[in-house]
Amino acid sequence: MNDCLFCKIVDGSIPSTKVYEDEHVLAFMDIMPLTKGHTLLIPKKHHENVYDMTSEEAGQLFSVAPKIADSLKASFQPVGLNLLNNNGAPAGQSVFHFHLHFIPRYDQTDGFKAAWQTK
Ligand code: 5GP
Ligand code: ZN
Repeated sequence: MNDCLFCKIVDGSIPSTKVYEDEHVLAFMDIMPLTKGHTLLIPKKHHENVYDMTSEEAGQLFSVAPKIADSLKASFQPVGLNLLNNNGAPAGQSVFHFHLHFIPRYDQTDGFKAAWQTK
């Protein structure tokens, strides 16, 4: 049995707020948003992380990124956007099904600070 949380979101057995869906990928709102509009984009097929994906699958996923970015811009009017992907527990991955974070940014006080941000 597949115990993966995001596979269950793909098959609908765990509910999510969907933002975008096609044959290969699904985007949905993060349940604990770091900022307003925090969204996750995943391949529908289970892949633990980037090492597990083919170039074609990565291409299918990233080809949708501008569409998601535009949609978040239209919905939330952020002034910036972080795209983040954690691979492996030491890198901060907590759900082991590949996902690309879309974290809309508003201003210096939007509550989120990436590790490399010094101000
Ligand atoms: P990671 O730490 O693996 O890069 O990110 C996992 C993300 O999945 C976190 O931002 C977390 O809030 C989100 N998440 C965990 N469980 C759920 C869930 O059941 N539903 C949704 N929509 N997001 C989840
Ligand atoms: Zn999975």
